Amino acid sequence: MKTFCGRANPTTGSMEWLEEGEDYDYHQEIARSRYADMLHDKDRNVKYYQGIRAAVSRVKERSEKAIVLDIGTGTGLLSMMAASAGADFCYAIEVFKPMADAAVKIVEKNGFSDKIKIINKHSTEVTVGPDGDMQCRANILVTELFDTELIGEGALPTYEHAHKYLVQEGCEAVPHRATVYVQLVESRRMWSWKKLFPVHVEAEDGEKILVPPSEMENCPGVPSVCDIQLNQMPSSDFSTLSDVVTMFSVDFSKPVQSASTYYRVQLEPVKSGKAQIVLSWWDIDMDPSGMINCTMAPYWVKPTSALQWRDHWMQCVYFLPREEPVLQGEKLYLTACRDEYSVWYNLQKAREGENKADEEEHKADVPVESPVCRCRAHLLWNRPRFGELNDQNRTRQYIKSLRRVLKTDSVCLCISDGSLLPVLAHYLGAKQVQYMQPSRMDLYHPHEFFKANHLEDKIKIIEARPELLKPSHLEDKKISVLVGEPFFTTSLLPWHNLYFWYARTAVSTHLASNVTVLPQSASLHMMIVEFQDLWRIRSPCGTCEGFDVQTMDDMIKDSLNFRESKEAEPHPLWEYPCKSLSDPQEVLTFDFTKTVPQHCLSTEGSVKLLRKGKSHGAVLWMEYHLTADISVSTGLMQLANEQGNCEWNPHCKQAVYFFSSVIESQILSDPSAVTYAINFDTKTGEIAMHFKL
Ligand code: SAH
Repeated sequence: MKTFCGRANPTTGSMEWLEEGEDYDYHQEIARSRYADMLHDKDRNVKYYQGIRAAVSRVKERSEKAIVLDIGTGTGLLSMMAASAGADFCYAIEVFKPMADAAVKIVEKNGFSDKIKIINKHSTEVTVGPDGDMQCRANILVTELFDTELIGEGALPTYEHAHKYLVQEGCEAVPHRATVYVQLVESRRMWSWKKLFPVHVEAEDGEKILVPPSEMENCPGVPSVCDIQLNQMPSSDFSTLSDVVTMFSVDFSKPVQSASTYYRVQLEPVKSGKAQIVLSWWDIDMDPSGMINCTMAPYWVKPTSALQWRDHWMQCVYFLPREEPVLQGEKLYLTACRDEYSVWYNLQKAREGENKADEEEHKADVPVESPVCRCRAHLLWNRPRFGELNDQNRTRQYIKSLRRVLKTDSVCLCISDGSLLPVLAHYLGAKQVQYMQPSRMDLYHPHEFFKANHLEDKIKIIEARPELLKPSHLEDKKISVLVGEPFFTTSLLPWHNLYFWYARTAVSTHLASNVTVLPQSASLHMMIVEFQDLWRIRSPCGTCEGFDVQTMDDMIKDSLNFRESKEAEPHPLWEYPCKSLSDPQEVLTFDFTKTVPQHCLSTEGSVKLLRKGKSHGAVLWMEYHLTADISVSTGLMQLANEQGNCEWNPHCKQAVYFFSSVIESQILSDPSAVTYAINFDTKTGEIAMHFKL
């Protein structure tokens, strides 16, 4: 079956209809899946195996047959562990058809076909009985249905159902229990992902302060989880206000309730400060004794043993509804509310002289509703974007360059999504400022923001796409300064923001002959890197705890090669340390002072590998040249040091192109080189690349 998907091309902005076979989604799902990452997660695998062995032994000690239910079997790994540990029979449930098919092959290849039955169903559809999917209820329940927030992948309703219909009372569960931990922190860096801080501008007539509308100030934000590699957050970027506290736990061996509820703990700050953020992570005990524990605790909590790197489970950042000044030693209540799939937090101060009995009173105050963005800005700006807008250094670069190009008679058009540039341009003295927000005017209307700053009649919002711009929108004037950050919410890969160039081309006839375009140009940069860990997510696994999972490797490889040219994928590299093996290299430039050319832009060349290491892939990013001597980078911020460590822009995702094979470069009198061919198709806005190692 073929389907037609309509979408606006993120780079060119034009509407296109893509014909996608049903294979497309499936290949995307497999290629971008976390299965490889899970199979590389040694700590997880070893502990599951230990927990499963212990559970099978406990059942056998009771002289019972060990009947296992493995919900979400994926590759079949946990069922194969159970069968090896002596389980009599395993029912392995997998809802995703391609995975269920793969599990059948893997189980067969490893010789367990007679012990493991793969059932391609959602667990809630599984039947029990003589004619059912399962002959009888299981007495061992094995699952791995957790995400970084623990419950976001639906573990609770799945367990609730399984206990009601699929397992025996008193069953053994692996994991046995999960516990969620929290720590209250103050962090300007993380708080800047939710709030817009005031922006200070030295204008011609004194200092101006740009403020967010009060609705935005008081908005609870969006409910989606903020999961990050917290281990990459330096301790200088936050200050812990409380000890680590156990928030709640779930015993998986007993009936589980998924209905909304809340948990409350009392806290005493160890330090005075501004409570803004709740950091959270969980651990799972694989057995009832708690001896086999797999934890996501970050480095400052678990400093001794080597941390297991993993991307499928990270840590959560929760934003309190508002900042709360707290005093060391004062009594606080932290509430975790949850529904079936997500968690959110609230902080309350205990009232003067309060005792246990008064606690009941607080229950009425417990906000059961999950955070919903009311100001709509959180729908337009994601968390990194908030961080970017709050980046004073970056703002300074824009102010400096605007100051350079604006004159008192400037007629300025700004094209970018949810941008502060029109306000800056106004304060810095442009005579007339127009603002065009090409995407998502329906999501967030900039009027509110301008109004909060008393600029609603100073900046004109043009509600038309660039190609529909008319002289009347501009009061019949020509644009003398065209500006963009550029930033568009539709961008996924760094070069998608080249949409600015297409918009610039579409408004060409409205530009004065001596127009200044800011940025005047952009360039695409590239560097070859060795990842500390990120390579795992795309690297074949071979065997996992002694089980042959090559079928899975082949399947992922197939999906990665599904499109003839492999694609680059976006990753925020501040979370994924890597070492540069080559110098950064400018590979393409895009001249915004001219229109987008008809022909493709292509380049070929080679990069020398200057450091010893494994070439896992190429990283690509954009730099914008605001004026001749002021540039902003969305990728590399600091040139690599001697060891090759790099500092990346913390607000942007970079493009990563994983090489299909890795070469190991040695020291280097005659350095090896990677040759590349990169082509920017100006018609489709796509960048295709080929590398040869
Ligand atoms: N057990 C494997 C894979 C875990 S990934 C391992 O530990 O390596 C979780 C898998 O569970 C995914 O493949 C997902 O498709 C599947 N899944 C999630 N919820 C499910 C449910 N309720 N019923 C069946 N499969 C489910």
